[in-house]
Amino acid sequence: MAERWVSTRAGSHLAGRRKESTAPEVLLRKAVHAAGGRFRLHPRIAKGCTPDFVLPRRNVAVFVDGCFWHGCPEHGRKTPWSGPNAELWAEKMRRNAERDERASRLARECGWTVLRIWECEVRDDPLGVARRVLEPTVRAK
Ligand SMILES: [Zn+2]
Repeated sequence: MAERWVSTRAGSHLAGRRKESTAPEVLLRKAVHAAGGRFRLHPRIAKGCTPDFVLPRRNVAVFVDGCFWHGCPEHGRKTPWSGPNAELWAEKMRRNAERDERASRLARECGWTVLRIWECEVRDDPLGVARRVLEPTVRAK
């Protein structure tokens, strides 16, 4: 499908892709580090699978997901897309979700315990999330 985005004022601030080292990601890394966790940033552990950081000694791979792009149940879009780009948006979000699932699966196949964390969880309670990351037996959500 050819992508023909119609530029709208509502969408202009959303231009661009997921960035590395977003604010919640940095916040969580600081909390994990303060709690004694040692990690590697953005390791490419498989093709199409680059967690935000991993804790090699614990075999934990962490993805911090932006509420909007990854469709957090609380802050993600709840109503169908509307406007000239509705279909493109829906398709884009579907692809994001597929990419997320695939990346999680690949990481698990490589032996990592996968933790996906919403950016709002980090903002609400960075230390609590850091404790979850550092739990000896974390479970994927
Ligand atoms: Zn959220």
